[in-house]
Amino acid sequence: MSRQSNNPPSGIATRAIHFGYDPQKEHGALVPPLHLTSTFTFESVEAGGEIFAGEREGFIYSRTGNPTNDLLERRIANLEGAEGAIANASGMGAISSLLWTFLEPGDEIITDLTLYGCTFSLFNHGFTRFGITVTHIDLTDPANLEAAISSKTKFVYFETPANPNMRLVDIAAMVRIAHGAGARVIVDNTYATPVLTRPIERGADFVVHSATKYLGGHGDLLAGIIAGRMEDMDAVRSVGLKDMTGSVISPFNSMLILRGLKTLELRMERHCANAQKIAEMLDAHPGVETVYYPGLATFSQKELAQCQMAAPGGMIAFEARGGFAGGARMMNRLQLVQRAVSLGDAETLIQHPAGMTHATYSPEEREAHGISDGLIRISAGLENIDDILFDLEQALASG
Ligand SMILES: *Cc1c(COP(=O)(O)O)cnc(C)c1O
Repeated sequence: MSRQSNNPPSGIATRAIHFGYDPQKEHGALVPPLHLTSTFTFESVEAGGEIFAGEREGFIYSRTGNPTNDLLERRIANLEGAEGAIANASGMGAISSLLWTFLEPGDEIITDLTLYGCTFSLFNHGFTRFGITVTHIDLTDPANLEAAISSKTKFVYFETPANPNMRLVDIAAMVRIAHGAGARVIVDNTYATPVLTRPIERGADFVVHSATKYLGGHGDLLAGIIAGRMEDMDAVRSVGLKDMTGSVISPFNSMLILRGLKTLELRMERHCANAQKIAEMLDAHPGVETVYYPGLATFSQKELAQCQMAAPGGMIAFEARGGFAGGARMMNRLQLVQRAVSLGDAETLIQHPAGMTHATYSPEEREAHGISDGLIRISAGLENIDDILFDLEQALASG
C-alpha cells in the first residue's frame, strides 16, 4: 500500500498505524520523530517571507504548525474521512477554536438538550455574553429541528452518543435539515470515535473530539481535534487557533496520541465487548433501575444505533435503585473500578454526572436537559471482564 495516499482504500487499523508517514524520509525510523521545537529557521529572509506569504511550503512557529502535530492531524483527518484536521490542547480548546472562528453577534447555535458539562457552560455562560443565541431542543426527533431552524441558525451542534445519558442523534437527518436552511453541522464524535461512526461520511461539516479520551486512550494527556474541509481548517488555524484561543497541542502529546492510535481499533473492540457484558449484567440486576446502552434490546434508539454505529461503544449510563444515595453507596464500595471523570482509558472508570462532569448545569437545567440526579456513568476499560463484573457485583450486592 502507498502510505501517502488513501487510494486504494485500506482498513482503519492499517491507516491508524501507517497513514502519512514514510520512514525512508526520516532515516528509516520506524516511529515518527518527535519535533520538540517552538520555532523553525529560514535559510534566508526571502525564503522566510515566502513561507509567511504561503508561496513556499515550510513551518514557521509551532503555534501555526509543527511536523509531529501535522502528522497527527493528517492521520486523524484520514480516519474521519475529512480533508483536514487541527489538533488542539484540549477538547474544549478544539470546540472553542472552531466556534470562535465563525460565530458573530446575532448568530444562533441550535443544539441538543444534552451536552458535555463544559460545552454546556461554554455555550450558555460564554457565547451568550457575546450576543449569540443558544437554543436547546430535543434533536432525537428531527421534526424538532425542522420547526426550530431559521436563517439566524449558523450551526447545529450535537454529541452522539451524548455525554452522559447516551442519547443518539441521527446525523444524516440533521444534515439534510440544516443544509436545507443554510446552516452547518458539527458533531462531537468523542464517544463513538471514527472506528464506530464517521459523521463526515454522513454529510456533517465538522467533527470535534476530546482526544483526551479514546484517541489518546491511556489517560496521560489532554488534547482535542477538529476535522472538516481544508478551506475551513485553514480559517480555524489562522483565526480561532492562532489568534483567538492559542489552544495549541504540545508535539509531545501529538506523539502520544499517534502511539495511542495504533491500538485504537483493537481497544474499541475490547471496550465495546466489555461494555456490552457490563450493560447486560446491570440490566438484569435487581439493584439497578434503568440502563442506557445502545447494545441492549431495551435501548429506545436501538435501530439508529445499528444504522449509525459499527458497534454500541464503550460507555454506559445507569440509575441504581435508591437514586443518588443508592448509587453513591455502590460507587464507594468499588475496589477495582476507579471513581474518576474522563473516559476511554484502559481503567474502568465510574462517575456521578450531576455532582461531577455536569455540575456546570444548575439543578433545574439538569432536570430540563435529561440528566437525572441518580444517573451514573461507566467507561468500560480494558481489564478482564470477569474482574470488572466481580467488582461491580460485589458493590451492588451489599444493597
Ligand atoms: C471530555 C469531553 C469534552 C472536553 O474535552 P477536554 O479534552 O476535557 O477538554 C468534550 N466533549 C465530550 C463529549 C467530552 O467527553
